[in-house]
Amino acid sequence: MAYISLEHVVKRYKMGEVTITAVDDITFEIEKGEFVIIVGPSGAGKTTVLNILGGMDACDEGTILVDGKEISKCNSRQLTTYRRYDIGFVFQFYNLIQNLTALENVELAAQICKEPLPAEEVLRHVGLGERLNNFPAQLSGGEQQRVAIARALAKNPKLLLCDEPTGALDYITGKAILKLLQDTCRQQGMTVVVITHNTAIAPMADKVIHVKNGRVDRIVYNESPMPVE
Ligand code: ADP
Ligand code: ADP
Repeated sequence: MAYISLEHVVKRYKMGEVTITAVDDITFEIEKGEFVIIVGPSGAGKTTVLNILGGMDACDEGTILVDGKEISKCNSRQLTTYRRYDIGFVFQFYNLIQNLTALENVELAAQICKEPLPAEEVLRHVGLGERLNNFPAQLSGGEQQRVAIARALAKNPKLLLCDEPTGALDYITGKAILKLLQDTCRQQGMTVVVITHNTAIAPMADKVIHVKNGRVDRIVYNESPMPVE
């Protein structure tokens, strides 16, 4: 059985008289330690898939299994636990707490976890050993995203979910962030899922899931994924 599986997942949004099918019968699998990119144009349903996989939103139909746990059957209290212990989130705009230092941002997230990793060590891993006591406003965009990745990794999650993690960064800085995500996947066996509209980064993944109009358009396996230089 695959580490993660979505089977015939459907998600609709009702807005008054209008119903939008954001995810329309999506099925795919992800193996443990895989680096997966979900790519597609704006409105394709990527964020909805990520939200469902991360337990932030419930689906209307279908089955979602993560490491043997049936997420699609969890109640809201169980989903809160799942989000807290099992999932690390990385967002486009970092979502750091501005009046806490890099170290404090990571420590705060680690505090509420079962088996957190030492905050300082994780910040060193992402290359911020010299920036522990800086506030977000004193860090560049790329550095802030590194703090956000450290915060997610310190939770020691089963799965790292990244929503357009390079979307607010210039090309070079974005590449460095992708390299960090790819290295984390390779070196720590972390399962990483990135959603993006940027098709240029697709060759770096083990598996690329192309979505279009709420459906899987095609799934491409990269036999030898491009290392991020
Ligand atoms: P993507 O991340 O690929 O841009 P989304 O998952 O955000 O796509 O959106 C898929 C579709 O679902 C879009 O048509 C969007 O307008 C709609 N949608 C997403 N979230 C909501 C919501 N909370 N309420 C209503 N419609 C939504
Ligand atoms: P970028 O080129 O990514 O926009 P910046 O020019 O914002 O980066 O920052 C370059 C370096 O200067 C970064 O290492 C950042 O940590 C540091 N830096 C930026 N602003 C401040 C500040 N207000 N206080 C301390 N260090 C800062």
